[in-house]
Amino acid sequence: MHHDILDNDDLPVGRVHSRREVLALFGGVAGAALVAGSMVARAAPGSGTAIPAGLVAQASSLCIATPEETEGPYFVEEMLNRSDIRTDPSDGTTRPGVPLLLTFNIASVSATACTPLTGATVDVWHCDALGMYSDARMERTLGKKFLRGTQVTDANGMVQFTTIYPGWYPGRAVHIHFKVRTTPGATTGSQLTSQLYFDDTLTDAVFTQPPYASKGQRDTRNNQDGIYADGGDQLLLTLTGDTGGYAAVFNVGLKSA
Ligand code: FE
Repeated sequence: MHHDILDNDDLPVGRVHSRREVLALFGGVAGAALVAGSMVARAAPGSGTAIPAGLVAQASSLCIATPEETEGPYFVEEMLNRSDIRTDPSDGTTRPGVPLLLTFNIASVSATACTPLTGATVDVWHCDALGMYSDARMERTLGKKFLRGTQVTDANGMVQFTTIYPGWYPGRAVHIHFKVRTTPGATTGSQLTSQLYFDDTLTDAVFTQPPYASKGQRDTRNNQDGIYADGGDQLLLTLTGDTGGYAAVFNVGLKSA
């Protein structure tokens, strides 16, 4: 009943550095520039999202990755260039759930500087409120595109996605998959394939609501997830907002070659 090919996309590509390694990498000063401060999450014009306007999202996560060479894609290469990934273009339906505005700031990190990375491709994909992925044969959702999307970073290294709080499926903590690539489709360049996680107490509260509640109690929390165990603390989102909608900012530093 679990998705077939998508099992593979749980494999991380690129190494996420530990907090100690990050500090060593930055020598303290440059790192502060990436870690410090908050930024205003702005909703895409006309997106119709229910996320409160002007909501300030705290950028609390720092993920420095040492990228590896691009290898064959494990996920579905949709190249669906869109910011609001809640809909399914094939039938016009919208996946129900608590809105989530997810912002990525992608930077290129060298020994001396941390520079916004413009033109990087960011893919996001995750299961719906009931644990279902689109475009998965085993789940009979082939051809569906809900909760998948691609954006290219702007001059500030930023992309935004409007989506929903993910549900769960057996054996995994609640997560969102993401992939950052400098040169999609090429055999050179940098990429990071990883996952974002959620605070379990917050998830408990979200999952008391429909449609999540109808699935019952999830079987895996962060501390029971073997993939989370490999650097998940560095990939934990800090959400602002309330049960009407959340926002989160996640910073990714790709170590330049
Ligand atoms: Fe997954």
